[in-house]
Amino acid sequence: MTRLAHERTLCAFDFDGTLSPIVEYPGQAVMGGQTRILLGRLAALYPCVIVSGRSRPDVLARLRGVKVARVVGNHGAETEATTAKPDSRVAQWKASLEYELGAFPGLWVEDKGLSLAVHYRQSPQKTEARRRILAATRNLRHVRVVGGKQVVNLTVDRAPDKGEALAAERDRLLCNWVLYVGDDENDEDAFALHGNIVPVRIGRKRHSHARYYLHTQAEIDKLLELLVLLRGH
Ligand SMILES: [Mg+2]
Repeated sequence: MTRLAHERTLCAFDFDGTLSPIVEYPGQAVMGGQTRILLGRLAALYPCVIVSGRSRPDVLARLRGVKVARVVGNHGAETEATTAKPDSRVAQWKASLEYELGAFPGLWVEDKGLSLAVHYRQSPQKTEARRRILAATRNLRHVRVVGGKQVVNLTVDRAPDKGEALAAERDRLLCNWVLYVGDDENDEDAFALHGNIVPVRIGRKRHSHARYYLHTQAEIDKLLELLVLLRGH
């Protein structure tokens, strides 16, 4: 951590489950008040970016005024340049999935323009729900399927993933070290980034590329505070 404070370090974060607690419905996700204050302080001391599966406008609204160097949405695919250009293939996938899965209780498809999230948190039969979603995605073309916490994410197979987005931001912001904090399967591309990276996972998991972890999401505040203190001197 001291090393990170003395290097040209990019501080990068996932949003859901990392800066905000996991919630029942995606629309309910809120960053805690203390997290918001600390992220603001951090962003004044280090280049900071958010790399989320949400759309960019969605994440920007949830930052509630905290200014970061960049917000990348849709799992790495959406920057300022690609915002508001939804991919027609994604709309086709949505129609196909809703047709295949429509009758199954507790499933819903969230369209984020450049990717889809098929949520099954509200399903009473989660194992069967996930099996059916994965089976339905096999009919789709140009798709990359990444699992998540009671969600299956569908991105365009050639689109930049979180790892590629993170590398691009590191280079653009002239950083030689990266801290990346995430909590889920779609963060593994970022955890596995080559070069000087400190990958931190919320919750320890075997076979993760993250070599470091926090016990719970609530500990993010301690991490942010320490980074601020170390560079503040
Ligand atoms: Mg997450």
